[in-house]
Amino acid sequence: MAERAPNKTSAGQTPVEVSPLQWVKGVGPKRAEALAAAGILNARDLLLYTPFAYIDRGAVPSLRALRNELLNERRDNSAPEDFAPRREKMIVATIARVRDRRTARGRSFVSIVIDDGSGVGAELMFWNQGEYFRKQFSEDMLLMVAGQPELNRGSQVVFHHPELERIEAEDAELFRSGAILPKYRTSQKMKSVGMTGRQMRNLVTAVIEQALPELPETLPREMRARFDLPSRRDALRAIHFPPDGEQLNRALHRMKFEEVFYFELFLAARKQGVKIQERAPACKKRGTRARELVEALPFDLTKAQKRVVREIVADMRNNTPMNRLLQGDVGSGKTIVALLAMLVAADNGLQSVMMAPTEILAEQHFHSLQAYLEGHGLRVVQLVGGMRAKMRRELLETIALGKADIIVGTHALFEPTVHYNKLGLVVIDEQHRFGVMQRAKLKERAHESHAATAGGVDISPHILVMSATPIPRTLSMTLYGDLDVSIIDELPRNRKPINTRVVFESQLDEVFEFVRAQVLAGKQAYIVYPLVEKSEKLELKSAEEHHEFLSQTVFPDMKVGMLHGRMLWYEKEDTMRDFKERKYHILVATTVVEVGIDVPNATVMVIENAERFGLSQLHQLRGRVGRGADQSYCLLATKDHFRFHMKKAAGEEDERKAAIIRLRTMEETTDGFKIAEVDMKLRGPGDMLGTKQSGLPEFNFVDLIADTDVIAQARQEAFALVERDPHLADEENAVVRARYKALYNKEYGFMDIA
Ligand code: ADP
Ligand code: MG
Repeated sequence: MAERAPNKTSAGQTPVEVSPLQWVKGVGPKRAEALAAAGILNARDLLLYTPFAYIDRGAVPSLRALRNELLNERRDNSAPEDFAPRREKMIVATIARVRDRRTARGRSFVSIVIDDGSGVGAELMFWNQGEYFRKQFSEDMLLMVAGQPELNRGSQVVFHHPELERIEAEDAELFRSGAILPKYRTSQKMKSVGMTGRQMRNLVTAVIEQALPELPETLPREMRARFDLPSRRDALRAIHFPPDGEQLNRALHRMKFEEVFYFELFLAARKQGVKIQERAPACKKRGTRARELVEALPFDLTKAQKRVVREIVADMRNNTPMNRLLQGDVGSGKTIVALLAMLVAADNGLQSVMMAPTEILAEQHFHSLQAYLEGHGLRVVQLVGGMRAKMRRELLETIALGKADIIVGTHALFEPTVHYNKLGLVVIDEQHRFGVMQRAKLKERAHESHAATAGGVDISPHILVMSATPIPRTLSMTLYGDLDVSIIDELPRNRKPINTRVVFESQLDEVFEFVRAQVLAGKQAYIVYPLVEKSEKLELKSAEEHHEFLSQTVFPDMKVGMLHGRMLWYEKEDTMRDFKERKYHILVATTVVEVGIDVPNATVMVIENAERFGLSQLHQLRGRVGRGADQSYCLLATKDHFRFHMKKAAGEEDERKAAIIRLRTMEETTDGFKIAEVDMKLRGPGDMLGTKQSGLPEFNFVDLIADTDVIAQARQEAFALVERDPHLADEENAVVRARYKALYNKEYGFMDIA
C-alpha cells in the first residue's frame, strides 16, 4: 500500500497518478484525485497529513464567558490588547435561527443566531454570499465558529463573517462527551467531492492500523527515552485520535522535536564541516591599541557591546574560522565593535576588510573608522568602483604590500585584481544583501593572501556578519544555526526615543507646518512615500510629481531634494551627500533611504501612505532619524478613514487590520526586537525573511516563535550528537542516518558545505 501505483483517473484525461487510496471504501476515483492534488497519494501521506487544529471542549469558551471577557475589555478600554494580532476565538454552539435581515439603513445580511446553553447567545452576520449561508445552515445544527467576536451597541456578541464548520451528529456526540476533534485542512477541490473533515477522519480510521507499521521510527530509542518522547507511531495515532489533551501534547511535542532536530542536524553537520576543513589564523596576541581606543572614546561602551566584543575575540583566538552574526538594532553601535575586532586582527599582523552594500555606506564607514582611529597608528583605506586608474593602482599596491590594515569597500573588494596580504578578518555589514557566493569569493581572496606562508593549507578568514534586522532569538538560533550569534540588545544610554505619531491625511497641512518649523530651527527632514506604480515611467513621474508639489506648493522657500530608485547610483550618492552637507532642507524620497544613511541633523521622518509599508521597513525608515542628540520625530501619515478604524479593529478586513497593527506598533515601541516579533506574527517567519533566501524549511508542527524550549532542546541534542558521533557511525544512530538521507536527499556528511 505504501508504493503508489501508476494509474489513470477514471476519466482517463488528466495524467494524474491515482493512489491506492482510491480502493479504500468510500473514496473512489474522484476523491482520490482531489486528495492527490493536495499531495495525499497513499495511506502514508494521509497519516502525515495531520490536523491543523483541534476542537477541545475544555479549551472552547462558552458564549457567556466570551461575552464577559469582551465586556471587561471594553471597560478597561485597553487599546493595546485590541490590536494584538490574530485574536481569533473559537466557540461551539447550536443554530437557533437563520434569517434575512436588514440594517436600519437598508443593507441586507443573513443572520444566524446561535446558542450554546450558557444563557447567552450570539449573532453571526454575513454581508455577502448570504444565499449560500442560508442554504447551508439550518436550525439545530451544531457549529464550530471561528472569528473575531465583538460587542454590538446592545452588548450582544456578534461575529462578522466568521468561519463556520458544521459538526456532524456523530461528532457532536463525541464532542459533548469530551472528545477532542481534529480539524483537517480540506481544499476547495476536496470539499467539492465531499471530502469534508468528517470524511477525512473516516478515511484515516480506515487505514491507520494497517499503515502505521509502514512508517519507520525516526528517532533512536535511547534519545526517545532520554527526552521521554513517544514512538512515532504512537505519536501519529494520538495526533489523529487524541485520547486526551495531555497525550496529544506529548505527541505534538515529539513531532516538533523530530522536525527541528533534523534541521539542526543539517546545520550542525555544516558547521562541523567548516571546522574540519577550514583553518583560520589564530589571533592570540593582544596589543594595547584596543584598550587605548576604548579609553579615548567620548563614551563608555554599553554592557552589551562589551559582551559581544568578548565573544568575538574569544572566537578569533581559535584556528577554526569564526562565523559569527552580530545583531543589533539601528544605532546600537555595531561599528565600534567591528573595529575592535579589526584591531585584534591587526595586532596579529592580519588585514581586515569591511564590506558595505553601497558606495555611500562604504564611504560612511570609511569616515567613521578614520575618525575613531585618529592617532592610533593604523592605516584605513577605501576601495570603491570608478576610481582613477593611477590611484587604484597605488591603492592595490598598498594593500598587496600589507601597508593597509583595514580596507573598506563594496563588491569591488572581491575582484580578482585585488590581492590582500594576510587577510584575517572579514566584516560584512547588512548581511541580507550579500549572498553565499560572495562569501565564497572572499574566502578565495583570503586563501590566496596567505598562500606564501600557509604551507599549502587554505587559510580562511574569520567572518563577522552584521545585521540591523532584529530577528527574535528563537528564530536566529534556528536560521543561523551554522553561525554563532551575538546580540547587542541595548542602546547607548543617551538616546532619546523617537517620538512617533500616526497622523491622517487631512492633517498633512499641520504636518508640513511642523516640518517647516523644524527646518527653520536648523534641522532637516525626510518625506518618504511609497511607489506603487508598476511601470518605470510611472514611478519616475510619481516621484517627480511628488517632488514638484512639495517643492513648489508647500515649501517654495526651501531647498527640496529628491531621491528615488530610478536614479543612477552616482546621482543618488550625490544627492545623499548634498543632503548630508545641508544643501537641502528636505529630502523627498522613496524607500531607497531605508538603508544605513547617517545624517544626524535630520530630525523629522514623514512617511506618507504609511499603511502600505511593512513593519520592518517602517522601523528601518524611522532609524534614519534620532541619530543625533536632538529629539526626533516620525510621523506616519495614513488615510482618514483609518482614524475610525484605529479605534475599532475588530471585524475588519485582514489587510487593513494588519496595517493598523503595524501603525499602532510603531507608535507604541521603538524596540526593534519587539517590532520584529509583531512582524513575524503578522507575516510568519518564512515570509519575513524570505523563506528561500533564509534557507528555512517549512515546518509542519513547530512554531518558531512559541516553541522556544523544544527548539533549544533539539538543537542542543543535534549539535551534541555530531560532536559525539561525527559520522553517525554508531549502530544506534543508523536510524538518524537513514532519516537524514530521506529528508535531504543525500548522504549525511560534511563535504558539501557552502
Ligand atoms: P549601528 O549599530 O546602527 O551601525 P553605529 O555603530 O553607527 O550603529 O553607532 C551609532 C552612533 O552611536 C555612532 O555615532 C556611534 O559613535 C555612537 N555610539 C556607539 N556606541 C556608543 C555608546 N556605547 N555610547 C554612546 N554612543 C555610542
Ligand atoms: Mg551601521
